[in-house]
Amino acid sequence: MTHKTLKQLDKEAVKKLQEIENQEEPLKPRDRLGIPPQPMPEQSPEERVHNINEVGYGYTEAQARLEAMRCLQCKNKPCVDGCPVRIDIPAFVQAVADGDFAEAARIIKRNSLLPAVCGRVCPQETQCQQPCTVGKSLKDTEKSVSIGRLERFVADWERENKGVTVPEIAEPTGKKVAVVGSGPASLVVAADARRKGHDVTILEAFHKFGGVMMYGIPEFRLAKSIVQSEIDTLRKMGVKLVPNFVVGRTRKLHDLIEKDGYDAIFLGAGAGLPRMTDIEGENLVGVFSANEYLTRANLMRAYDKERAETPIYNSRKVAVLGGGNVAMDAARTAKRLGAEEVHIVYRRSEEEMPARVEEVAHAKEEGIQLHTLRNIKRVLGTEDGRVQSAVIAKYELGEPDDSGRRRPVEIEGSEYTMDVDTVIIAVGNLTNPLIKQTTPAIETDEKGHMLTDENGRTSMPRVYAGGDIVLGAATVILAMGEGRKAAVSINEFLESEDS
Ligand SMILES: Cc1cc2nc3c(=O)[nH]c(=O)nc-3n(C[C@H](O)[C@H](O)[C@H](O)COP(=O)(O)OP(=O)(O)OC[C@H]3O[C@@H](n4cnc5c(N)ncnc54)[C@H](O)[C@@H]3O)c2cc1C
Repeated sequence: MTHKTLKQLDKEAVKKLQEIENQEEPLKPRDRLGIPPQPMPEQSPEERVHNINEVGYGYTEAQARLEAMRCLQCKNKPCVDGCPVRIDIPAFVQAVADGDFAEAARIIKRNSLLPAVCGRVCPQETQCQQPCTVGKSLKDTEKSVSIGRLERFVADWERENKGVTVPEIAEPTGKKVAVVGSGPASLVVAADARRKGHDVTILEAFHKFGGVMMYGIPEFRLAKSIVQSEIDTLRKMGVKLVPNFVVGRTRKLHDLIEKDGYDAIFLGAGAGLPRMTDIEGENLVGVFSANEYLTRANLMRAYDKERAETPIYNSRKVAVLGGGNVAMDAARTAKRLGAEEVHIVYRRSEEEMPARVEEVAHAKEEGIQLHTLRNIKRVLGTEDGRVQSAVIAKYELGEPDDSGRRRPVEIEGSEYTMDVDTVIIAVGNLTNPLIKQTTPAIETDEKGHMLTDENGRTSMPRVYAGGDIVLGAATVILAMGEGRKAAVSINEFLESEDS
C-alpha cells in the first residue's frame, strides 16, 4: 500500500540497484537486510473504485531484482516448508536477483502449474512468507521477502516475453480420462494426464472454464485473461473442453464409466454451494448469496452495465455479512458496481478476519466500512418485498471455541437498524450434493466432502477426487496440490494392467 507511482518506485529501485552493482564486495547478510522492501505499485483507491482492472500493476524488473536480493538464501529454507507445493523458493529468487527470469520460471514450474494465479491470490503471508528469516530478523513478517509478488513477476514476465509454451505430449495411450469441473485442481489433473498421452476431456457445468478463478475471484484481483491463457494452453495440448455439462444431470457418474468408456474420472467439482443463514428476511428481493452476486458480476458481465444482457440489482447501500476473502470480494465489487455505501458486518474482531490482510486493507482504502463484533439478525423489507434495512446486534468475544478463536457472544439489548437496500451473505460454502445424490455408492463425510485415500482415490473404482470437493472451501494452491497428487495416482493406474 503505497502512494508512490510506478514510475517513482521504478526510479528509486533502478538507483538502488545501480549502487549495489557498483559495489566491489558481494552483498553480506547485513546489506541484504538493509535493502528496503519493495512496495507493490498499484492504482490509487480513488481511481480503482471506478474500474474493474487489477489493483496491483506488478513489480518492475528493477524492483523484482532488488526485492530478490533481500533473500538471505538460508540453508534450511523455511519458506519451502511453508509452501504447500514446495517450490524451490530460494533457487527461483536467486535467479530473479541474477536477472535470469527464464530460469526462475523453469524452477517455479517444476512444482506449480499456475504461478501467475498463485502469485496473485495465495495467502503468502500465512504460508511461505510467514517463516521467512528476513521477516523474523526485522521483527516484522510484513517485511519478509515478497515471494508472492516475485512469483507473479516471473510468471507475467514469461507470458509477456516468451509466450505460452505447450509441454510435450507422450504417444497416445488409448486411455480416456474425464475431469469433472475446471477449477485449479482439475486443470492440473488435465495437464498432467494429457502429458502422459491420455485422451482427456474436461466436463464443466458452467459456460466458461476456470472454476472459482473465473466466476468467484474478481477481475480486480485476478485478471481473467491469465486464467484464460491457462485454458488455451490445455486446448493446445489437445485436452477437450465441454461446457454446460453437469455431471449427475447431463450424465450420471457411473454412465461416464459404463456407457462412455472413460478409464478414469477425476472429480474436481469444488465447494460452490453457498451456505445461507436462515435469518428472517433472507428471501427478500435484494438479498444475494456472495456466489450469485460475484458470478453475475464476473461471468455475466454485470459490471458492463451499458452493454451486458444481465444487469445486476441497482444498489445504493449494501451490507455484506462475513469476514473472509469472499466477503471482501463481494463488498469491493459492490463498490465498483456503483454502490454509495458498502458495509461489512462481521461477528468477531478484525484480527480474526479470515480474509487476507492485504484484501482488508485494500477494502478499507476503497471506503468500505468495517463493522466488527456485529451480526445481522434480521432483514426487514418494504411492502413489495424488497430489502429496506438490516437489524444488527453487537457482540463481544468470549471463551475460545473449537476453532481456537474466541467465540462471539451477543450483547443483550444491543440491536439497532441500518438502512440498506442490498444484503450479501458471505458466510461460507459447502460442496454441492448433486454427485453424491446421483451416485449413492460414493462415500462422503457428514458434510458431503468426498472421502479419498492419501492418493486421491475415492471409494468407487476408477474415480478420484481433489480440491474443495474433498477439503471444503480451501485455497487455489491446496486444490492444485490435491490435483497433482490425484494425477500421479491416475497415471500410475492407467499404466498398470488393472486399467
Ligand atoms: C470469491 C472467492 C474468493 C476466493 N479467494 C481466494 C484467494 O484469494 N486465494 C485462494 O487461494 N483461494 C481463494 N478462494 C478459494 C479458491 O478459489 C478455491 O479453493 C479453489 O478455486 C478450489 O478449486 P477446485 O479446483 O477445487 O474447484 P473450483 O474452483 O470450485 O471449481 C469447481 C468447478 O466445478 C464445476 N462443477 C461443479 N459441479 C459440477 C458438476 N456436477 N459437473 C460439472 N462441473 C461441475 C464448477 O462449475 C466449477 O467450475 C476464493 C473463493 C471464492 C469463492
